[in-house]
Amino acid sequence: MSRFADYNINKITPYVPGEQPRVQKYIKLNTNENPYPPSPKAIAAAVSETNKYNLYPDPECRELTEKLAEEFSVGIENIFVGNGSDEVLAFIFQGFCEGGVAFPDITYGFYKVYSEIYNRTAEIIPLKDDLSIDYNDYLNVDKTVVIANPNAPTGMVLEIEDIEKILQCNKNNLVVIDEAYVDFGSMSSVRLIKEYDNLVVVGTFSKSRSLAGARIGYAVSNKYVIDDLNKIKFSFNPYSLNRATLAAASASISDREYFEECISKIISTREKFKLKLKEMGYLQTDSKANFVFVKHPYLSGEDVFEKLKDSGILVRHFKKERISDYLRITIGSEEDMEVVIKELSKLVDDRGNL
Ligand code: PMP
Repeated sequence: MSRFADYNINKITPYVPGEQPRVQKYIKLNTNENPYPPSPKAIAAAVSETNKYNLYPDPECRELTEKLAEEFSVGIENIFVGNGSDEVLAFIFQGFCEGGVAFPDITYGFYKVYSEIYNRTAEIIPLKDDLSIDYNDYLNVDKTVVIANPNAPTGMVLEIEDIEKILQCNKNNLVVIDEAYVDFGSMSSVRLIKEYDNLVVVGTFSKSRSLAGARIGYAVSNKYVIDDLNKIKFSFNPYSLNRATLAAASASISDREYFEECISKIISTREKFKLKLKEMGYLQTDSKANFVFVKHPYLSGEDVFEKLKDSGILVRHFKKERISDYLRITIGSEEDMEVVIKELSKLVDDRGNL
């Protein structure tokens, strides 16, 4: 820390991203990336944009906004795009959370970090013992509510009817539904934006569209919230999405066939993997995301994490109360998961030696 940093910067604990190994070759299942490459059409579109790098990109992201509007059957005035959903979430914490913000104790770590950096009072609400969200806890919080649905790292889903109850009881605050993992088998809340002006749905191209490295996120909400988000963006960095990224994102939406093929492969691998875990005696939440959240009744999470790492498999372990025995394992290719099953099964067999 320098002696020049503001008090507010000094006191924050930054988000710790999952390890991005540079040397050893791991089966990398620690940051919920998609095992399949982006659509070949997205790659071609991005490459062909690079010879226009002498020109600024479109600050209004018009083509992508139109594509997303069509995808969600809303108007272009209902769509905001940002540099990853992290940027979209940061703008929301910056611009709409004066009255405080409420979110679960076990959820996406960035919500706490954004609360700190933007000086927002955070009401942190414990998940139930089974690690699910109790919507009743959010009915009268009178703060901006932020819920990842499916939640991370549990992958568990809150039903749309329950989200609707939260929206009805919190009319003077935004309810932000972070749908980073929605495409892997749960229902989007986007259809509720016509009815509830306090709803913002946030999404990303990082998971289901294999574009984590390109950085594209979006928000769907009523026109006024979208105008506010654009006001923040245009007061900060109007060119936050580069030309190649914008082209890749638009082309990815157009290639529905490739998108659906990748999603269905991941869902099918996940379901097979969940079944195997169960057979081996591992306990898990009912994940509808591209990861599972799993522990063994007799094995320590940290030990399993280390053993897998020694075998060349990188997963995510959180040294956090209530979940320190769990591991979050991203769903990779069918072959990757077979290797993981083999290693996890060995650990159960050798458990006397751990
Ligand atoms: N929300 C959740 C719940 C996430 O897990 C992530 C990815 N780590 C994000 C948002 C951010 O995704 P991105 O910035 O890549 O769009």
